Amino acid sequence: MIRLVWVAFITFVLFFFSGIMPFPGILRPISSIQTSDRVVALTFDDGPSALTPELLEILKKNKIKATFFVTGEHALQSPDLIKKIHDEGHEIENHSYSHPHLLFHGYFFIRTQLMKTQEVIRLLTGETPRFFRPPYGQSDILVLEAASKEKLKPALVGDRLRLEKYCR
Ligand SMILES: [Zn+2]
Repeated sequence: MIRLVWVAFITFVLFFFSGIMPFPGILRPISSIQTSDRVVALTFDDGPSALTPELLEILKKNKIKATFFVTGEHALQSPDLIKKIHDEGHEIENHSYSHPHLLFHGYFFIRTQLMKTQEVIRLLTGETPRFFRPPYGQSDILVLEAASKEKLKPALVGDRLRLEKYCR
């Protein structure tokens, strides 16, 4: 119920100040980029974990750079692994703090999940993540709004782009 109130409130505010769709200021989720090069982007979610060192070895051996969408909780549990990922030239991005189903929570919970993880990654690597992958690919207007406020561009996988209509 609280969530519905927030969705209604934010929708009203966005309509009131923008007057038109799409909502201004909300970053469009991405799942691909236009290129004529034959390339793929490798991303790994949920770590770091006990498998990460082996994965890093494989990436290094094959001269591959990847993007790791990590949770703040796991990052705090394995700060050395986060530094290793960073030192080996991979990107580290935001995958929430504790990997919750964000659709079951309110705006401030979502915002806190993003902020805490930004802070942990910034502390460990000195760099601020630019992308956010919502756990389970679950995203709605509250998630997109919270990500935009943190200057995080939602990076989704596959067909999770139904919310594009809300974005510029
Ligand atoms: Zn995940």
